[in-house]
Amino acid sequence: MKKETICVQAGWKPKNGEPRVLPIYQSTTYKYESSEEMGKLFALEKEGYFYTRLQNPTNDAVAEKICELEGGVAAMLTSSGQAATYYSVFNICEAGDHVVLSSTVYGGTFNLLTCTMKKMGIDCTVVDPDLSEEELNKAFQANTKCVFAETIANPALVVLDIEKFAHIAHAHQVPLIVDNTFATPIHCNPFEWGADIVTHSTTKYMDGHAMAVGGAIVDSGNFDWAAYPDKFPGLCTPDESYHGVVYTEKFGKKAYIMKATSQLMRDLGSIPSPQNSFLLNVGLETLPLRMERHCYNSQKVAEFLESHEKVAWVNYPGLKSNKYYTLAQKYMPEGTCGVVSFGLKGGRKAAEVMMEHLELTAIVTHVADARTCVLHPASHTHRQMTDEQLVEAGVAPDLIRYSVGIEHIDDILADLETALSFV
Ligand SMILES: *Cc1c(COP(=O)(O)O)cnc(C)c1O
Repeated sequence: MKKETICVQAGWKPKNGEPRVLPIYQSTTYKYESSEEMGKLFALEKEGYFYTRLQNPTNDAVAEKICELEGGVAAMLTSSGQAATYYSVFNICEAGDHVVLSSTVYGGTFNLLTCTMKKMGIDCTVVDPDLSEEELNKAFQANTKCVFAETIANPALVVLDIEKFAHIAHAHQVPLIVDNTFATPIHCNPFEWGADIVTHSTTKYMDGHAMAVGGAIVDSGNFDWAAYPDKFPGLCTPDESYHGVVYTEKFGKKAYIMKATSQLMRDLGSIPSPQNSFLLNVGLETLPLRMERHCYNSQKVAEFLESHEKVAWVNYPGLKSNKYYTLAQKYMPEGTCGVVSFGLKGGRKAAEVMMEHLELTAIVTHVADARTCVLHPASHTHRQMTDEQLVEAGVAPDLIRYSVGIEHIDDILADLETALSFV
């Protein structure tokens, strides 16, 4: 099926007489007729629901839809994008291990990997994603367990050369994890270019209405963990906390997601509420329609800004003048995302004046939803970073992140025009 159809039809498949729309299974637990039946579930002899922290029918239906959209073999939802990032790495790394991280990733990911997980004993080398393979090679160590990067970096809008990153990760016998939040599976399927695992903050375009924080992890099933048992003991040797199961042996291509569910979700518990998954599912139904409009509008906004006398620079991978135009055409020929970043000739001060005079465009921390919104990362989301770190992350101190919504383009442009007249 095509993605437009998957978005509407996949996941929930009602049987005769069941509700047409995905029900919200707002229940923590599930009833069984006998103690023996329940026992079989815990002994892993039978599959079934027993507690919503581990599995819930509403959550599972939505995970299945996202799995199909990405072309994976297994997927899980998490309560936030941050939890998805954390689980995706922690599922294959422990104290003493090492991660190679693209410098332009989302600020929350940067913090998680370089500060919080460092405290847990997981080390991290930050690399410029535009480096050559030869230069990237130097970042790898014997204890490296994965590479993490973003399809389109938030907010630097750096487009990842996925094939280059997959190639170098595989040369070092580790998987490539790609955060595909900004491109969405509508515009890019990183698995087709060699990525092994995809993560999402579903909070953004997938939900699309700024209603529910959430995340997802999808596994392509392509990385052969069992070929490197010494590197990935958690997947290839018995899990004493779970009946001595060897995930690669018992679950095959689904080993990675099964381990993340039965070990990390069991112990750390970042499960989404079924209510939120229901909302996410409604958002997913219109994702292709919205992405088309987001990209149409943002292309117009980028072109408008590029020709405006008060604008110093514009960054949008859909502009022919953009450094990443060629990569964007290769990996996302039908469009990138609805986020445009730019700087004004008057710098930081001018940005503040402009933002004060925007009416339709709201100043919010959020990005990538139906309503046009704006943010100044250096004063907001990336406030904790030094100027040096900001530059490394591809975030200029004067950078304005403009998230173009799905309103009529004329109204968006009029709002920008008016606000810029005050600068
Ligand atoms: C927002 C975002 C995250 C974090 O997701 P939350 O749902 O806010 O926890 C991770 N990666 C990217 C690219 C994001 O934009």
